[in-house]
Amino acid sequence: MEPKLLQELQNKLQEKKSRLEAQLSSFATKDPNLKDDWDTKYPRVPGSNLEEAADEVEEYSTKLHLEFNLETQLKDVNAALEKIAKDTYGLCEQCGNPIAPERLQASPEARLCGNCNK
Ligand SMILES: [Zn+2]
Repeated sequence: MEPKLLQELQNKLQEKKSRLEAQLSSFATKDPNLKDDWDTKYPRVPGSNLEEAADEVEEYSTKLHLEFNLETQLKDVNAALEKIAKDTYGLCEQCGNPIAPERLQASPEARLCGNCNK
């Protein structure tokens, strides 16, 4: 891969990583023992009534869903950054062929080439 393109994609990944971590830390705490694992804080309003408690549960489950989503993206981004460090970035994890640069530009954390991702 061209060094210039690699640099560009690495910058994109770093940006995405900071953005995802900022989003996650707004409602979740990072598990200090597990890498890339976040725990959603349970919203607790002191002295809330039953109706409010039901809202809390609903809010919590929405956040868990979002947490899972962001965490998955963050894992992919971190995996891509590790691959850059190991010099295996840009190769399909399934067939080993290079992933098209256009595909990486659209989604720098892509793990599979266009053929395998069907
Ligand atoms: Zn492939």
